[in-house]
Amino acid sequence: MSAPDGKSSFAEKIVKCVTTCLFVVVFGFVVVIAIPDFMRARLSKSANACINNLRQIDGAKQEWALENRKGSNDIPSSAEIAIYLVNNRLPVCPLGGTYIIGRVDEDPKCSISTSAWPNDHVLNPTNNWWTDFKGAYSTLFGRRPLGSSR
Ligand SMILES: [Zn+2]
Repeated sequence: MSAPDGKSSFAEKIVKCVTTCLFVVVFGFVVVIAIPDFMRARLSKSANACINNLRQIDGAKQEWALENRKGSNDIPSSAEIAIYLVNNRLPVCPLGGTYIIGRVDEDPKCSISTSAWPNDHVLNPTNNWWTDFKGAYSTLFGRRPLGSSR
């Protein structure tokens, strides 16, 4: 770790390295914090309404499991959880998707959910950070980063 060319000393290299690392960490932090918020803001009204419905269905499912002593693998029918919902019926997806109630330990799904960014009609986003990054990038700058398939 010497500087034979005399251009930069070891100490200078350390400073450069630390500065770069700090920049990368701060930038990464901003990206990780800001992108999910940005993603939510990009969701349409109907997608948000659908997510709200999914949340209610999930809540009803948990109540059903609790009151009937069901395990995580049990699947309630729509009639069984309807009594825990407003107006005693399942909410309807504003875009006409069908709800799949699923097991107690999994999220209810909307049939028109998409894995495409920004992960519409999904209770808990399943996209990885790279998909989120690509989506945010192309939305902000109107073009795609190199190597993206979308
Ligand atoms: Zn939906």
